[in-house]
Amino acid sequence: MSKVEQYITSIPDFPKEGIIFRDITTVLGDADGFHLAVDEMTALLDGVEFDAIAGLESRGFLFGAPMAYNLHKAFIPIRKQGKLPRATSRMSYELEYGMETIEVHRDDIKPGMKIVVVDDLIATGGTLEAAVHLLEQLGAKVVKVVCLLELKGLHGRDRITTCPAETVVAYE
Ligand code: AMP
Repeated sequence: MSKVEQYITSIPDFPKEGIIFRDITTVLGDADGFHLAVDEMTALLDGVEFDAIAGLESRGFLFGAPMAYNLHKAFIPIRKQGKLPRATSRMSYELEYGMETIEVHRDDIKPGMKIVVVDDLIATGGTLEAAVHLLEQLGAKVVKVVCLLELKGLHGRDRITTCPAETVVAYE
């Protein structure tokens, strides 16, 4: 297991009873922890050929943007509905209660573009599955999904069927 794990704080019963919230703000709040997290996530892209990193609002931005900066790649934000000012494409997906919609600027995605998708955490995998479908619908090829952590018991990784998904830390 990565040393990054020691910087993650686990909060029982947040935001509701029975959920163990994996808080990554304590990773960001420590200079060594932040470096380690970004460096280990970046290392998962060794040998991967790609054009841009797409980060998921909001915690995917915190890791995806420094990874893109370090590798001198473009960063593409995937945001919740209503935040992006130019023409967008969107994808809706089910949450535990209700629906969520994510969007990307249509002109950020060129057909055939190779994209890495970055988020903080794979839980049910619903958000990442929607992001991969959204980008593929616009003609991109998602070559890899990278997250800092994964909640294995929820099998979210199984929903990423078209490319490899890797994480630095996994919780059972
Ligand atoms: P999901 O679509 O279920 O894979 O989860 C989407 C987002 O919810 C993740 O990117 C996290 O930001 C957040 N999330 C879900 N479960 C947890 C958890 N146990 N601890 C911290 N964040 C979580």
